[in-house]
Amino acid sequence: MTQADWKSRIQEVHPSERLFFDEPMAKHTTFRIGGPAECYAVTDDASEIQALVNLCREEGVSYTVIGNGSNLLVSDDGVKGLVIRLEGSRMEEAGSGDGTVHFRVSAGTLLSGFAKSVCRDGYTGLEFATGIPGSVGGAVVMNAGAYGGEIKDCLVTADVLTKDGQVLSLSAEQLDLSYRHSNVTEREYIVLSAVFALRKGDPGAIKETVDDLAAKRKDKQPLEYPSAGSTFKRPEGYFAGKLIDDCGLRGFTVGGAQVSEKHCGFVINRGGATADDVLGLIGAVQRKVLDRFGVLLEPEVRFLGF
Ligand SMILES: Cc1cc2nc3c(=O)[nH]c(=O)nc-3n(C[C@H](O)[C@H](O)[C@H](O)COP(=O)(O)OP(=O)(O)OC[C@H]3O[C@@H](n4cnc5c(N)ncnc54)[C@H](O)[C@@H]3O)c2cc1C
Repeated sequence: MTQADWKSRIQEVHPSERLFFDEPMAKHTTFRIGGPAECYAVTDDASEIQALVNLCREEGVSYTVIGNGSNLLVSDDGVKGLVIRLEGSRMEEAGSGDGTVHFRVSAGTLLSGFAKSVCRDGYTGLEFATGIPGSVGGAVVMNAGAYGGEIKDCLVTADVLTKDGQVLSLSAEQLDLSYRHSNVTEREYIVLSAVFALRKGDPGAIKETVDDLAAKRKDKQPLEYPSAGSTFKRPEGYFAGKLIDDCGLRGFTVGGAQVSEKHCGFVINRGGATADDVLGLIGAVQRKVLDRFGVLLEPEVRFLGF
């Protein structure tokens, strides 16, 4: 099969208004960085995802699934093959148990939108998630968390598509959720949807917590600049931002990328940053922190196209 063949086959199976070629990934990452995806398909439908994956397998074309691109650094050279962007918004009540109500949410739904909606309806458990700008699928992959809460606390199951085309319903334990970790990427699963268990709470207290956390984020985080959130995972016994600050790296800049002056745990795009700028900055920060404190900072940000 030639290159042109797989692209024309994708055009046959996927709706044209949600299919793009040479699509700049800078448009689809919160870093606002990244060269073109050779092919970019948007969907939130399990059968469409399966059709795209099957086609890529048959044609030997590489593919990657992304959510809202809020934890991604994409190469300046872009991404070969197909990027499947899960985007949509579907949530429904899905039973109850143990004094909780269950909600099934599609992977492409924005986590913050879902969390705000259930908080408004008086459910407690996802207040921590109202300011996390990822999709539900991305949040399961990363076991996203903040302010003492994490996805694994209220996840009942996630439906995943396996490499051999099965759909499995897996618990937080089976997904091996721990601090910013799951086994989804290593097992090449695709998260299709997730079920969360939430309790009815005091609407006033829920609103107060949500407002308080939003104020904290605005106060402490450089939300006025493009970024991918915390660049590094929290090393055990330390805070990445404090280590970086203690190395004198507050405001340290490589090209358009900068260690945020407001929060040293964030690398920001000051304008026109390239992926190479960010990589250079990450490497320099890692070396300095390792030299000074003997701690190797592990990126939380995921790399695509390198
Ligand atoms: C301003 C800001 C604040 C942030 N604050 C927080 C925070 O408080 N806590 C926190 O944990 N994170 C935070 N983040 C990081 C980010 O929002 C989370 O990691 C989020 O869970 C990523 O979701 P996403 O949909 O954007 O995933 P993406 O960035 O699109 O993808 C992340 C990884 O998941 C994979 N992936 C995505 N969807 C799927 C799927 N359906 N199936 C299989 N693999 C998939 C991708 O291939 C990639 O490896 C912040 C980011 C920003 C920009």
